[in-house]
Amino acid sequence: MSYKVGIPQSLFFYDYYPLWKEFFNELGAEVVVSSKTNKSILNSGVSSCVDEACLPVKVYHGHVNELKDKVDYIFIPKLISIHKREYGCPKYLGLPEMIKHSIYDLPICIDVKVDLKKSNFKMVSTVVEAGKYISPNLIKIKKAYNIAYSHYQNYKKLINKGVIPIEAIKIYNSATKAITTTNNKELKLMLVGHPYNLYDEYTNMSLIKKLWSKGINIITPEMIDKDKSNYYSSTISKRMFWSFGRRIIGSSFYSIHEKNIDGIIYISAFGCGIDSILIDIVQREARKSGIPFTLLTIDEHTGEAGINTRIEAFVDMIKRRKINENYISTHG
Ligand code: SF4
Repeated sequence: MSYKVGIPQSLFFYDYYPLWKEFFNELGAEVVVSSKTNKSILNSGVSSCVDEACLPVKVYHGHVNELKDKVDYIFIPKLISIHKREYGCPKYLGLPEMIKHSIYDLPICIDVKVDLKKSNFKMVSTVVEAGKYISPNLIKIKKAYNIAYSHYQNYKKLINKGVIPIEAIKIYNSATKAITTTNNKELKLMLVGHPYNLYDEYTNMSLIKKLWSKGINIITPEMIDKDKSNYYSSTISKRMFWSFGRRIIGSSFYSIHEKNIDGIIYISAFGCGIDSILIDIVQREARKSGIPFTLLTIDEHTGEAGINTRIEAFVDMIKRRKINENYISTHG
């Protein structure tokens, strides 16, 4: 009998889905992914999660609710640290515990700990622990991970070529043609934020598609070369110890200094403690270099009309500056 492993289409899904899907498949399990975020997932997440949590964590609860009666296991890793001397968001660290205390009748949780703050070798024990839920065979588990990891590298290469992760996942799942954002469109904007805020089309109201429909090129932090991003993140006065923070600061500083973008849209979830610091750092750097910056904050009450108006005003302002003012602001 093949086991069913549920993977919620939320939070770290956009970073790691191909890796874990391939891993569990190689071990003989069937992977079941929750639906794209929709109204009922959002509502069920909001009603089962504590009020104080940020929107993405509430949405994650909704995805777990959707999967829990359909699978034998549900994969909710405890992401403590994914890089040496760095940490994830505190809400990631306590996610399995939070879910177990908020949602009843869960299937068995594969709540393995990913803690690489001292050494990458720790990943071996994490992989073995996760694999043992499906197979007792250690050789099979290690082989499955090696195969999964090579698939994951291909997924990352697609993103580095300018394919946004949601398109890269589609290509990965069904071998469809890549849609890249590297073409000759008039404007190029950088969308900055945590991957689930950038790529969850329901919570951000299809922001990327809206910008594409206006003929705008999009780049996101995941597309920026890791070495360049790491270099620029090291230029701030204090070492960034959040992995997401390093990626967001490094990639946006790189684009600001290379002057290869016309503006930055930062998408943040209301109540995100990490963003309260990152937004200020990115905004100041953009301002110093005269790069237009705007912030979109989303929560469960955000209305689409408000988002549309903000985007239209921002894009119009950039176009006017580019044509009429040679990038000098009206106020000098
Ligand atoms: S980084 Fe921010 S948005 Fe993401 S889970 Fe943590 S608090 Fe929520």
